Amino acid sequence: MTEEIVVCENLSKRFIVGDSVVKAVDGVDLTFHRKEFTSVVGPSGSGKTTLLNLIGTLEIPTTGKIIVNGTDLSHFSPADLTEFRRKNLGFVFQFFNLVEGLTGKENVELPLIFDGVPYEERQKRVDDIFKEFEIVSLQNKFPEELSSGERQRVAIMRALINEPILLLADEPTGNLDTNTGQTVLELFKQLNEERGTSIALVTHDLSAAKRAKRILHMHDGKITFDQQNLDEEPKGMEE
Ligand code: ADP
Ligand code: MG
Repeated sequence: MTEEIVVCENLSKRFIVGDSVVKAVDGVDLTFHRKEFTSVVGPSGSGKTTLLNLIGTLEIPTTGKIIVNGTDLSHFSPADLTEFRRKNLGFVFQFFNLVEGLTGKENVELPLIFDGVPYEERQKRVDDIFKEFEIVSLQNKFPEELSSGERQRVAIMRALINEPILLLADEPTGNLDTNTGQTVLELFKQLNEERGTSIALVTHDLSAAKRAKRILHMHDGKITFDQQNLDEEPKGMEE
């Protein structure tokens, strides 16, 4: 297998709700490799979002640790985590989270501004990515002028612009109609196959999860089944 990019060791997240403790993620050991397209599937409340947020450093684990590209994040300060996240991870959300007052191009440029990339280089990188994905026509439109599928494409470009180690997507088709959702899933597949983008995609929908080469099944905060090498599935099994 290729290089390990994310290693989770005995990872847990507990929430206190009233007098009870919710084990949202419960003792997960897990490794993601470079160029892997993994999906995490499970019913609502099984801990998928919490797991993704832990890996994305948006939540702090209760126990255990996360090692990204050989760096143990356990003792990072909140400010260090913010910087680490900005430089190394890309996020795609169900509700796109584009900035309404900025054009498509400006939304995609934003992570580069935060990263201090000079103006000329920013313009070039943003132009290139819009060209590469053949969505140049969306560059100067505001989010409100875009369809939901177009918004998600722009959001994916924004997540990719800093060439993250791992692209994290939480229910990215949850707010799209079936056809648009299929197109966006196809884009993830294409990104993985053609650019070698490493992807962790969370979904409650098994047919969406099947786009990935590896499916992690989650239940009650635990990984109950790790299905690998789905490429090699006999023909006729898909959809
Ligand atoms: P999924 O994404 O699979 O639907 P979540 O990770 O959102 O699951 O939630 C897993 C469990 O943790 C659920 O029981 C949920 O209610 C609980 N949970 C998630 N976030 C919080 C929070 N901030 N406070 C309290 N409970 C939470
Ligand atoms: Mg969720």
